[in-house]
Amino acid sequence: MSDSSEKFQPIDASAMPRFGGMPTFMRLPHVTDPALVDIALIGIPWDAGTTNRAGARHGPREIRNQSSFMRAVHHVSRIAPYDLCRVADLGDVETNPFDMIDTMDQITAFMNRVIDAGAVPLSAGGDHLCSLPVLRAVAKNGPVGLIHFDAHSDTNDTYFGDNKYTHGTPFRRAVEEGLIDPKRTIQIGIRGSIYGAEDMAFAEQNGMRVIYIEEYFKMGADKVVEEIRRVIGDGPAYVTFDVDGIDPAYTPGTGTPEIGGYNTYDAQVMIRGLQGLNLVGGDVVEVAPPFDPSGTTALVGATLMFEILCVLADAHAKRG
Ligand code: MN
Ligand code: MN
Repeated sequence: MSDSSEKFQPIDASAMPRFGGMPTFMRLPHVTDPALVDIALIGIPWDAGTTNRAGARHGPREIRNQSSFMRAVHHVSRIAPYDLCRVADLGDVETNPFDMIDTMDQITAFMNRVIDAGAVPLSAGGDHLCSLPVLRAVAKNGPVGLIHFDAHSDTNDTYFGDNKYTHGTPFRRAVEEGLIDPKRTIQIGIRGSIYGAEDMAFAEQNGMRVIYIEEYFKMGADKVVEEIRRVIGDGPAYVTFDVDGIDPAYTPGTGTPEIGGYNTYDAQVMIRGLQGLNLVGGDVVEVAPPFDPSGTTALVGATLMFEILCVLADAHAKRG
């Protein structure tokens, strides 16, 4: 039986091998009461915001599957998240593939239950529109900083007429709704052809720090970490990782691939560099299993989720 102080552990791999058992995030127990956890791992199986190749709705299930490769302790920082915090799989948000507004409300309601219980959400999408309803809960007491890994700025205005809610628009909406502070927002890895020459005007004119991939490669991951820390400062910050920020050689299973990205190791280095920031939540989005026959993109997603979990656990423990 669990009491409220129990620190959940992954299934013992010497008792049930890692290829066995029912797949949950990190092989942790499935817990339904957010009051029992400090960090809630949550799936958001929803890709109704996708503008091109759909499939990220299948992300949570495959990320759970590949997360069976994760062990308990980070090999560099030696952070042991399951000893620092109560972490469990809170299951999936119930989504509606035919009703965007209803689904966004359901995502926000789920996240509000988690946050009101004192827990920090770490979710697996789903496409990048999922981050908007999450931020509506995370930032309900005021705008947060945003550490945004992506090939795309996701600050376009509308698609296919006047549709405001797509995976190409969440961070413009988040600024308009007062959920993120654009001057405490940094986007890392932006590249690829754009619809028009003015596409980046919103991000740039609102003071977001945009590190295009060309600047990224001139700086290198360590200098980018310094810049992230300068932009974010001491205030609360949310980390969102769109796996298409990474080169599609490593993450082919995604809806909107763009060549010329950073590699998986540099992605890990940058997340590790967030240790010590006041992180209040995170997500990994845009893993699209139909385009991922080897499962490697879901493995990347699961590994980045573990990396983010470690820095979130460290931040949560330091807040006491
Ligand atoms: Mn994105
Ligand atoms: Mn993207």
